[in-house]
Amino acid sequence: MDNNQIFKKTRIAPTPSGFLHLGNVLSFVITAGLAKKTGAKIFLRIDDADRERTNKLYVQDIFDTLDFLGIPWHEGPRNLHEYEHEYSQVHRIGLYKQVLQQLRDDGALFACRCTRTQVVVQRDSSVYPGTCRNLNIPLDAESVSWRLRTKKDQVLEVKTWPGTVVEATLPPTMSEFIVRKKDGFPAYQLTSVVDDMYFGVDLIVRGSDLWNSTLAQLYLASLIKGQSFSGTTFYHHPLLNGTDGNKLSKSAGDTSVHYLRKEGKQPGDVYTSIAGMLNIAEPVETWEQLFALMVL
Ligand SMILES: [Zn+2]
Repeated sequence: MDNNQIFKKTRIAPTPSGFLHLGNVLSFVITAGLAKKTGAKIFLRIDDADRERTNKLYVQDIFDTLDFLGIPWHEGPRNLHEYEHEYSQVHRIGLYKQVLQQLRDDGALFACRCTRTQVVVQRDSSVYPGTCRNLNIPLDAESVSWRLRTKKDQVLEVKTWPGTVVEATLPPTMSEFIVRKKDGFPAYQLTSVVDDMYFGVDLIVRGSDLWNSTLAQLYLASLIKGQSFSGTTFYHHPLLNGTDGNKLSKSAGDTSVHYLRKEGKQPGDVYTSIAGMLNIAEPVETWEQLFALMVL
């Protein structure tokens, strides 16, 4: 394995729809650790394209949490003001629209009227059954989402850190995935790929729950001259489980850093809790120490 790899840029990309929790912190620690090891700069991207779920309180929580824990970042907004005036995804809507237009011109899209509930009920799963694929609903119709006409058998190559290439096809849950939502805003898969290409990210660290998103994004990149994205290296880390064995989520209030700070916990307490969840029995004071104790 080549452990002397050099990367230009990685990113941390939280969504401001809840307080950051221990699972987010683990992801940031691995990102910061791999960045240091590989010479990459860390870009802070705040994923706020989902306008309904975005809340300024949670944007501020991102800055507060990173500062509290001493996790560094080199590019992107330093504070709420810079985020609002320069870095919010709202400022890149033009860029996303260009890509959507390109996909439209290439005939890669179709309009869909289904609600999420309909999709789940029809199949008893979140696999889209292709209901609107051949209905020729105009893309400019009211309240339609735009879906990608995907091929089941296209082979996607995922470069994974530290040095293997995994071949996969698009999973059924990503078949004909949405690139523009009914509210007219670009969907997560599209904004994420476009941003990573735009900012020159070549190393992405994310939870293993986003493996299917990685495949969707690589698929999308193959359609939009996304050569730079196709060359990206990924590291998908295991998720932290709560004490009851369930996946941590934003609703897990008592694992939010915001809550722990209010309880008087210090950064070392936060890192030691995460270490405990990873079966590392010793106290940990800093993110560097935690990263050094992890076996990636
Ligand atoms: Zn549909």
